[in-house]
Amino acid sequence: MTKDSMDATSAAPPRSPDTEAVHAGREDLAALGLHAVPLDLSTTYPSPDSRAEAARLDEFAATGARLEGPPVYARLDNPTVARFETALARLEKTEAAVAFASGMAALSAVLLLRASQGLRHVVAVRPLYGCSDHLLTGGLLGTEVTWTDPAGIADALRPDTGLVMVETPANPTLAEMDLTAVAHSCGSVPLLVDNTFATPVLQRPVEHGARIVLHSATKYLGGHGDVLGGVVACDEETARGLRRIRFATGGVLHPLAGYLLLRGLSTLPVRMRAQSATAAELARRLADDPRVARVHYPALGGAMVSFEVHGDPHAVIAGVRLITPAVSLGSVDTLIQHPGSISHRIIGEDDRRTGGISEKLLRMSVGLEDVEDLWHDLDAALDAALDAASGGAGDGVADLSSRPPAPRRQEPERAGR
Ligand SMILES: *Cc1c(COP(=O)(O)O)cnc(C)c1O
Repeated sequence: MTKDSMDATSAAPPRSPDTEAVHAGREDLAALGLHAVPLDLSTTYPSPDSRAEAARLDEFAATGARLEGPPVYARLDNPTVARFETALARLEKTEAAVAFASGMAALSAVLLLRASQGLRHVVAVRPLYGCSDHLLTGGLLGTEVTWTDPAGIADALRPDTGLVMVETPANPTLAEMDLTAVAHSCGSVPLLVDNTFATPVLQRPVEHGARIVLHSATKYLGGHGDVLGGVVACDEETARGLRRIRFATGGVLHPLAGYLLLRGLSTLPVRMRAQSATAAELARRLADDPRVARVHYPALGGAMVSFEVHGDPHAVIAGVRLITPAVSLGSVDTLIQHPGSISHRIIGEDDRRTGGISEKLLRMSVGLEDVEDLWHDLDAALDAALDAASGGAGDGVADLSSRPPAPRRQEPERAGR
């Protein structure tokens, strides 16, 4: 892929996201006599003209612009990964995207970039993904965080604030916020939106005024639970800073991961539509179910459903048979986990409570299975949870069910069943 061959198509009329998902980043393939995307695993490349190479490296060190011409070394640039970046930027409608080894590597690079500019203060809204919260709260990269609610953002800004960070729908409560209003209250401070849950199929944060879009590509972008990656979609100036950080710190995406992520993007729109339809139906059934205290499902839609049970949430996890009890999300198969024990365990209990993460909360990532098969499995697991909470057999979860007595509300609800 050369930059020219990509630019040659940029004069074409704008295409639908469904079309971009299949074609963006691959426009030059036919001219190369190829159909599938080539996977380039080289760590190094021939550099016969070292004078010219020196000039190119000086240029990269000074600007962080994507390298023109052949690659030099895999920590600097990789053609397969670059295709994924081009495609994701097109879907998020940003000038550029920069891929990393994981979502956390991507967030770290953004924080390091801002810190390198003397802007160490971050304003953030809970809840965030557990490890993002941990990275900010623990100050592991020398950042300092002020937690606030969306209405408090403007007042929390300081002269050294380098970033405002939010997630919507948020992990794991699926809480939503008005991105346009939030972007407005950030003033000139860049707003970073973690768009992992919505994906560009449902929401493009830059259209609401966000400047930086973060993805754990591990989730919906990959979509099959077999690739770890992260990506930041942003303006070209920010991307240049991020490329320099990535080169210097080494959190690069492996080319095979880039290949799999690009392939994942092809089916992202159809996966999101199908998985969201099933999730919406399950959310409806859960909301009508007396064994369930509360259901969280975003107005935006999406394939994540969170719910609080009257019974023992650990028994639901232990009770599923078709659904996989596992952390992570966004795969073609359905996963369920208990945020208080796994995805958000690293956050202190008080901070979990502040973020609205109840100990009764379960987070389910809905896949492509048949909705009736999924409901059948959930239905049995919910029964097991009530048994466990009332001291019944509990399906092999005797240890987990030796918990405090079930809440008062449970008795009438059970009697009603
Ligand atoms: C998983 C996740 C992350 C972290 O991504 P990794 O790829 O696991 O490093 C960040 N944000 C959200 C919303 C996530 O779900």
